[in-house]
Amino acid sequence: MNHLANSPELLALDALIDKAGSRLVSEVVTRIEVDGHSLPLWCLSLGNRSPDVPAIGFFGGVHGVERIGSQVLIAYLGNLVERLQWDVTLHDLLTRLRLVFIPIVNPGGFLRGTRANPAGVDLMRHAPVEADGDVRWPLGGQRLSPHLPWYRGALGEALQPEAEAVFKVVRERLLPHRFSLAVDCHSGFGFRDQLWFPYARTQQPLPHLAEAEALRALFNRTYPHHSFYLMEPQCLNYTTHGDLWDFLYDEARQQQPEKLFLPFTLELGSWAWMKKNPRQLLDPMGLFNPLLPHRHERVLRRHVTLFDFLQQACVSHRNWLPQGAERVLHEQAAMARWFS
Ligand SMILES: [Zn+2]
Repeated sequence: MNHLANSPELLALDALIDKAGSRLVSEVVTRIEVDGHSLPLWCLSLGNRSPDVPAIGFFGGVHGVERIGSQVLIAYLGNLVERLQWDVTLHDLLTRLRLVFIPIVNPGGFLRGTRANPAGVDLMRHAPVEADGDVRWPLGGQRLSPHLPWYRGALGEALQPEAEAVFKVVRERLLPHRFSLAVDCHSGFGFRDQLWFPYARTQQPLPHLAEAEALRALFNRTYPHHSFYLMEPQCLNYTTHGDLWDFLYDEARQQQPEKLFLPFTLELGSWAWMKKNPRQLLDPMGLFNPLLPHRHERVLRRHVTLFDFLQQACVSHRNWLPQGAERVLHEQAAMARWFS
């Protein structure tokens, strides 16, 4: 296990899986070969597998330097594993919901301390999706070299195993359910914690703009003192090629229009941590992760309410998904707010 010493998150996830035992269904989706090591890419799940109940997936660690996203998920999973021993309300929730986690999508990037995977590919620029309009180069994705950031991979080459694993888990464990959400935890862009929904590939509104806006409004009404989240389409910030969630959202929409899959990206605003503690700039990991202990602890507890809310909203989706005239009103409000 010595090789994992560079990555406390890989160790913490192993320890959590050991501790959870049969309380979590723990599966190795694929193994990532890196520097002579073979790292498991774990998927953990719990709850009701029936397609008649909704499902939610939590993903983190797509970028190997954005460790805090995985830490937030591992801490949240630890909370669930504890509560499974005593909390009847959690057991009740899990009869109505399927929960799926990939806390570390890019274990090779964690081991090496790189944003990209071991092949040098930025997994969030790697899906077979071309953006339209102006895409900032190279931030939006480039095919020139894996030695430059935001490398998409070579045109036409097979999907990287980490992307394949995310596609497989979403297709097999979320999309069979008639309603599903996904949250993918990143860090590093902006002063605020942002919850982005599609698209990254275009400035056009997503077909489920009304549903995304309804969820935003529901959260803000239910938790009016959590205004630190900025919820909006990703394209208002920047557009990219190859976003995994754009691809999966479009695929799901085209292949099963009777169901709804809404993916979100939680982008933790690391610039705020740097502003409060400029010494973070001296540490490469400080660009993406809170370094001071009190701030680190605050980030680990800060998103529990949002994660709980998303599960409850998932279970109760019939009570807030807008229909008919109400849907039109949500769409008009969203168009005025973001696309006018
Ligand atoms: Zn990221």
